[in-house]
Amino acid sequence: MTKNILSLFVIVFALSGCGIPLPLQKDLVVKDINAVRQFTTTNSVFNSYVAAFEQYGKVHTGDGRFSVGDIPINFGDTENENFQGVCFEYPDGTKEVIIRESWWNGASEEYRESLLFHELGHCRLDRDHIDDAVMTSSNRSYKISLMSSIIVGPGDYSQYKSEYLTELFSQNTDELLLSLGLAVSQ
Ligand SMILES: [Zn+2]
Repeated sequence: MTKNILSLFVIVFALSGCGIPLPLQKDLVVKDINAVRQFTTTNSVFNSYVAAFEQYGKVHTGDGRFSVGDIPINFGDTENENFQGVCFEYPDGTKEVIIRESWWNGASEEYRESLLFHELGHCRLDRDHIDDAVMTSSNRSYKISLMSSIIVGPGDYSQYKSEYLTELFSQNTDELLLSLGLAVSQ
């Protein structure tokens, strides 16, 4: 039943997205026909994050061979001042993640992971943005997904990391809602 509600939610979300002509700024960018991927390998700075993503992926998907695959991650120009990271998709089907180095160098480990996993959510998991938030009884607002277009902050991510990772790989928010003391719809 929860799955049906989620499907309905996704459909409604998609329809409303199409019906409202908002100026969409997205860090999932499909490049034009002449664009060519900039990198073929990942900067070793990101190796430990990739390894962590793959480990979580194996656990959450149950697929022991889960890997990031051919998605190089490197520092570079995100081509939009609002984005610290971006997932580029090219006409030949290749993809890559580009991270703003100045942001990375000033960010905590948890913040870095929140951003990088968000970009891999686009590039590897084919996920789109989910900008819903929930309010707890203490009037505190929480993003329900790492796929929020505004990246989940390091404090919330460290506190609810397990819950956010479950949502990232399964699109199920039940764990997060329960941990926040909110009712889960049945
Ligand atoms: Zn995004």
